Amino acid sequence: MTDIDQLRAKIDDITLQMLKLLKERTEAAKQIGQLKKNNGLSVFDEKREDQLRSEVTELCKQIGLDESIGRKFLNFLLNESIKVQTDGKQTHLTIFLKAKALEQQGKKIIHMEVGEPDFMPSPVVKSALSEAYDKGLVRYGPALGMPKLREALAQYCTKKFGSDVKPENILVSPGGRFSVFLAVSTLLNPGDEIIVIEPAWPAYRDCAIHAGVKVRTISTSLENNWDPSISEIEQTINSNTKMLVLNYPNNPTGKVLPQKLQDQIIDLAKKHDLYVLSDEIYSEYTFSEWKSVLASNYSKAIITQSFSKSHAMTGLRIGYTIADKSIIDKMVKLQALCITNVAEPIQYAALKALETDTVPNTKSIKSKINVLVESAKKMGLEFNAPDGAMYLFARINKPGFDGLEFTNKLLDHGVAVAPGDGFGNYRGFIRISACQDENKLKEGMMILDEVLRDYR
Ligand code: PLP
Repeated sequence: MTDIDQLRAKIDDITLQMLKLLKERTEAAKQIGQLKKNNGLSVFDEKREDQLRSEVTELCKQIGLDESIGRKFLNFLLNESIKVQTDGKQTHLTIFLKAKALEQQGKKIIHMEVGEPDFMPSPVVKSALSEAYDKGLVRYGPALGMPKLREALAQYCTKKFGSDVKPENILVSPGGRFSVFLAVSTLLNPGDEIIVIEPAWPAYRDCAIHAGVKVRTISTSLENNWDPSISEIEQTINSNTKMLVLNYPNNPTGKVLPQKLQDQIIDLAKKHDLYVLSDEIYSEYTFSEWKSVLASNYSKAIITQSFSKSHAMTGLRIGYTIADKSIIDKMVKLQALCITNVAEPIQYAALKALETDTVPNTKSIKSKINVLVESAKKMGLEFNAPDGAMYLFARINKPGFDGLEFTNKLLDHGVAVAPGDGFGNYRGFIRISACQDENKLKEGMMILDEVLRDYR
């Protein structure tokens, strides 16, 4: 055997050994997952991960391996553990699908689990869709979006968000979810880290895991008014950290960050050269002072927006990203690969919808939130009144309360709400969505109160 053959044999052997060890590790992770489930523990355990991270960093120092590579390798392993442990995890979507299945069997369900306005999009959207047909807008188009729509969006954002936005800064995509997917998939690499402030919409984590990116969570609490700790964020940042996610007004808490805190977070991101992915999908549903991250003029800020909530166009699947041209250029390549372009009639409908007044929508959601707030107060639920968005995130302070078990039980009584567990380590919480007729909301809250009595 030549030297090179010998070394290759050694590499093969090490690789195969590593795979056997990976299999063994995954089996142990699965068993831990089962024990966590049996004991009502969360899959996610930042402290435990930190402990192992320190050991890995220490070992890298001892053996002379690049620490950043060591931690990236660890991130891969941690994500594999999370994947096997979260398999079959219930979220608001699981409850939604279960509720839909019950409806098919003829059961009446009050839907307070999904974030979907209960009102129709403006009639302008209906006429725009047929106009688009008449105009022959039924062909392939540029992946970035229709030039007319991008121009209109640039003007709209400049006026609305206090920053000079040009069409080259806009990418039209099929909904905010896809924009988040594009940003995470194109700007980050496997082993990189992304900071997510919880409770959070689960797609940030899911997109990251899909891209092999490690999520580092910053937990916030009702007691601390859902304010993230700046020092905790700073301590979490390391050489692998590449992105920080913000979502204000927040799903599920309805929180809007105090201006100063938001500015401090952006400053921190600038200091460490991190991307800031700011999901501002609920900006039209803001009941207190709110400022877009766009106004910070940070070149690494990516703002995701959508027509889903503001214009009640959830099923039409259209949203957009606002970012520096260099970022848009990267994201559009993956969009072109995946979908070619957003359907032209839908883009045309969005163009027309942009001219409509959304104030009635804001008023409607605000009034519904008030209904929820009033009845939740009477019921003694623990929560902070939302500054925006479309939800109430409440803690049920009762012995033995488990959000997951409760939401399933409540569904049997004809009301669907989302378990807090889907948004992070918040088992004692439920998210109640304000997207129903007010009388239905009142009825839903009454049933919720009755089912809760079993816990007293
Ligand atoms: N971002 C947040 C915070 C959401 O809550 C949702 C939907 O519930 C989305 C994005 C997805 O929106 P879209 O319908 O535009 O994909």
